[in-house]
Amino acid sequence: MAKRKRKRPSLNITAERALDEGIKFTKNAVNYRQAGRSRRRCYNCIYFEEGPNRSAVGTCKVVEGQIKGYMISDIFEARPELM
Ligand code: SF4
Repeated sequence: MAKRKRKRPSLNITAERALDEGIKFTKNAVNYRQAGRSRRRCYNCIYFEEGPNRSAVGTCKVVEGQIKGYMISDIFEARPELM
């Protein structure tokens, strides 16, 4: 039996629309990953909700589960003060 390739779920709606509709993406769908040295990381993103302190695990308004501040995803949006 031939192996079926698993397709990465596509982003067929915007983060803004997900926020409006109360929908959250899976981490796989948004390519949640280690941010590297860039300032582009979850704790500088408009969708990040901090935990008890800046280094603690937080959550995201549009991505499921616990979110670490030093990670990033494909739908990162910089906080206005970083622009
Ligand atoms: S970078 Fe992605 S996972 Fe991180 S806070 Fe922003 S939207 Fe959420």
